[in-house]
Amino acid sequence: MKTIGLMGGMSWESTVGYYRAINEGIKRELGGLHSGQIVMHSVDFEPIKQLQHQGDWAGTATILAASAQSIQAGGADFLVICTNTMHIVAPEIEAAIQIPILHIADATAEVLLAEGVGTVGLLGTAFTMEEDFYKGRLTDKFGLKVVTPNADDRKVVHDVIYQELCLGSFQDHSRQEYLRIINELAQQGAEAVILGCTEIGMLVKQEDTETLLCDTTAIHAAKAVEYALKTD
Ligand code: GLU
Repeated sequence: MKTIGLMGGMSWESTVGYYRAINEGIKRELGGLHSGQIVMHSVDFEPIKQLQHQGDWAGTATILAASAQSIQAGGADFLVICTNTMHIVAPEIEAAIQIPILHIADATAEVLLAEGVGTVGLLGTAFTMEEDFYKGRLTDKFGLKVVTPNADDRKVVHDVIYQELCLGSFQDHSRQEYLRIINELAQQGAEAVILGCTEIGMLVKQEDTETLLCDTTAIHAAKAVEYALKTD
């Protein structure tokens, strides 16, 4: 089994979900007392959040490149960055290490293509919904058409992430807002909606809507299990 490197803490609420899902996946595959071989480095999220909102992506890249190097030095065979947003600096992180990164958008796109989805809705932070690093990858590398909420709804989605979900607060009125926005994306032609922020799956569940939801935490963790157990 390969050793899985987890870059966590963004937020730690969702990193817990990765840790659980990976260990459950390894146990399901191998049985008995098998569990994941994991090296994790968990960052302090507050300074990162401040740098994000100042647009200082180079500052975040410096912190996360050092985190990735410590994970590599700890013996990880590959890296899982446990947040969609911070894949914005995946190229800088990749340049700082020799082990591969399992990109969250690639893992998600593979699931969407396997489901036969051509047009997909995207929920996440404003950075994920508005910048090109995520949408562009889905479009250019996988041929997916991506739809996002209107500006007001993007703000609702973004604010709930930083003011509630990353603090472990899951409110019914926010769930209803997300479900309304998911429904509007479906009406715009989305055949599925990416929960493109690793906390959203704790707020909205598949049973809450008829629209197909792609929970990036679950998908990314499953990909990590598959990759860890794959024999080259
Ligand atoms: N966990 C979130 C994501 O998947 C947002 C937190 C962050 O800014 O990294 O994008």
